[in-house]
Amino acid sequence: MVTPLMPTYARADLVFERGEGCWLVATDGKRYLDFAGGVAVNALGHAHPKLVEAITAQAQKLWHVSNLFRIKEAETLAEKLVKASFADTVFFCNSGAEAMECAIKMARKYHSVSGHPEKMRIISFDGSFHGRTLATLAAAGAQKYLEGFGPVLGGFDQVPYGDLEAVKKAITPETGAILIEPIEGEGGVRVPPPGFLKALRQICDERGLLLVLDEVQTGIGRTGKFFAYEWSGVTPDILGTAKGLGGGFPIGACLATEEAAKGMKAGSHGSTFGGNPLATTVAGAVVDIVLEKGFLARVNKMALLFKQRLAELKDRHPKIIAEIRGEGLLIGLRMIPPNGDFVAAAREQGLLTAAAGENVVRILPPLIIGEEEISEAVNRISAACKALETSVAAERGAAE
Ligand SMILES: *Cc1c(COP(=O)(O)O)cnc(C)c1O
Repeated sequence: MVTPLMPTYARADLVFERGEGCWLVATDGKRYLDFAGGVAVNALGHAHPKLVEAITAQAQKLWHVSNLFRIKEAETLAEKLVKASFADTVFFCNSGAEAMECAIKMARKYHSVSGHPEKMRIISFDGSFHGRTLATLAAAGAQKYLEGFGPVLGGFDQVPYGDLEAVKKAITPETGAILIEPIEGEGGVRVPPPGFLKALRQICDERGLLLVLDEVQTGIGRTGKFFAYEWSGVTPDILGTAKGLGGGFPIGACLATEEAAKGMKAGSHGSTFGGNPLATTVAGAVVDIVLEKGFLARVNKMALLFKQRLAELKDRHPKIIAEIRGEGLLIGLRMIPPNGDFVAAAREQGLLTAAAGENVVRILPPLIIGEEEISEAVNRISAACKALETSVAAERGAAE
């Protein structure tokens, strides 16, 4: 019989009761170091005092009013995001998929109002993930997620990630934009070759295309910059973000230059909940903290330290860890045994991680981690590696 909660996830049999900073406490009292971070959502850990304060104060005043009226909290958050980025204007929604849906619609609308409605095709990349709506699934083009859901929305041309020649070859007179994750998160923390974004920017400028970034996972300090594109030296035309933005409260945002957003007028797009006072207050508090002087410098310092310690672990466990990837605190460990085995072994040791493509285990700690949490995590990863080595050896012994 089906469970009341629709079984669309293969969940670990583990229930949490509360969270404190980088820790989660299960209903049986066991404590877990949360380096899955709600899949890059709990940017400031759990129950951050400033977020608790912000949401509590706002909850007592006003939750929702609809977009029929001005929303001061949304205006303030939009101003903050504009000031901190390439963007001139921001649309708020409730998730990453919606942020990317808005990005896709905006790119098409731009060319339509520019007199080129035929430029509605978008080049996207293998291994990408943009969400679970029909358009974002079509953009990513992953067969396993599209299977059985009817006609696939047209207008997307996938090319291999990091392959500049393939991008150039895929451009036709109907191409309007290039859509890319600066680092592919779900795809396995895949980092493109150096200079790739810059080269895409150049192609876009030469061919009159929009550069659309999916920073749903890489945004809000995750890679050590507020947005990952800042590492590249170029800026996009449109950018979607979500996950870390609300620190656990659902919110998404689609940022754009004035030019790219020129087709977005009253009535062009909308969202009932998008940008409501509660969500935008919480996100405003997250953004304030991440942009505080020294916050991102500390993220980079901790990331460097963590990666050094992980490199030592890789040397000590060459039969378990094949490669360390990523930027900032978006870290991937490519595994030799199945990544799911490692995730389970780490969980046994009280460390939460998240699986990704290419047999990678993602490590997505809260951005507030310190040296103590890193040491604790390294010990637990080491213990998980040892447990896996023992079980691999035992299996080999049984097979002989
Ligand atoms: C998680 C993710 C999404 C989808 O976000 P939802 O909030 O689940 O809709 C889109 N793009 C990227 C890069 C993501 O990591």
